[in-house]
Amino acid sequence: MTPPLSSSIIGPNGNDSANNASRLLTLLHQAGGEATRAELTARLGCGRSAAGYALTDLVNRGLVRIDEHPAARRGDGAGAGGPGRPSHHVLVAPTSPVALAVHLRVDTLDVAVVELGGRVLRVEREPVEERPEVASIFLRIGRLLRKIGREAGRPVAGVGVSMPSPVRTEDGYALEPRHLEWAGVPTRDLVRQGLDEPWPVHVGNDANLAALAEHRHGAGRGAHQLLYLTTEHIGIGGALISGGNVFGGARGYAMEVGHTTADPDGPRCSCGSRGCLELVADTRALMRAAFLPDAPVTGIEYRARVLLEAAERADPAALAAVDHVATLLGSGIAGLINLLDPDRIVLGGLLAKLYPLGADRIAAEITERSFLERAVPVPVAPATLDCAALLGGAELVLDQVLQTLQVTIDHSAG
Ligand SMILES: [Zn+2]
Repeated sequence: MTPPLSSSIIGPNGNDSANNASRLLTLLHQAGGEATRAELTARLGCGRSAAGYALTDLVNRGLVRIDEHPAARRGDGAGAGGPGRPSHHVLVAPTSPVALAVHLRVDTLDVAVVELGGRVLRVEREPVEERPEVASIFLRIGRLLRKIGREAGRPVAGVGVSMPSPVRTEDGYALEPRHLEWAGVPTRDLVRQGLDEPWPVHVGNDANLAALAEHRHGAGRGAHQLLYLTTEHIGIGGALISGGNVFGGARGYAMEVGHTTADPDGPRCSCGSRGCLELVADTRALMRAAFLPDAPVTGIEYRARVLLEAAERADPAALAAVDHVATLLGSGIAGLINLLDPDRIVLGGLLAKLYPLGADRIAAEITERSFLERAVPVPVAPATLDCAALLGGAELVLDQVLQTLQVTIDHSAG
């Protein structure tokens, strides 16, 4: 175990040097794991010698490496720090710690290795059967984590788990993974039991974690108040990233936007209420609007993509279905704008595919129903990350690395 950076660096300005190193690594992480030395020094704003000291420390710790010939390597001069004066490139080192990430969905289980910069190094995917048993799923999660952790050949900083359920912050308890037809699951404890290393385990709601990843590495970068809505197989997940942090409410359960009421007399929802937003604006609603028969949950995502492709080809029935869902979605978003005052809205999963086809309808509905939108229009964008929920799980782990730099670099332990 490497000692905490703050006590191990006695630089020219004491703890300032440790802070500089931590901030520099954070900047590199936010930049996707690669940046020029000149860019990092400028953004750090502490002078060249202090930045150089912090950089040297990070190199000595095996956290970053410096490519001294970036222009020659890239062959495009993009590494130049000025005319005729190339700036060295700073990259995440192959000896730096990695996060293991888990994303459980209704039909797939993904386990990944992610390094600083939000770069996914490896993903293992296994199918999930309908109505899976809790015990068998967590046995598989443990087996996969042990395997990819062992094979990563890197220090493992921890595990981040993304669950399709509201998750209690204090103990990683998944309240109701309803679409898996499970009752509450003590997720953090169950994942820990499957490990043979003392890796810290963090658990979060999948929409919250996807939003966090989009805020740090995707379409939500730079937003102060990011509203995120997503749908995968069925249901609508929501999240708010406020001031860079997930807004969790009192216990971590906040932002269940799929279960806000869109139609008080609507059909019964699995949550016990009626006419929830997710019943009128998710994948099932899209299929119903196109008069397509109900599909099993595990096949619905594929069929919805086929439907959206038909809409792209201007198929009238498919376009009408998109219009119908976009209208109800826009109406739901308008209420959320009035409530949350976001400065950006990102749509993920199937909504990202639907958005280009339904953007005008959504915009019209938002404008008509939200006076805040009419005062200051809120930009809406489709999500840009492929594995946002996995990346968000990894962020929970990498946050700890960045905040404390108390990382294990004992390679023999890997
Ligand atoms: Zn509901």
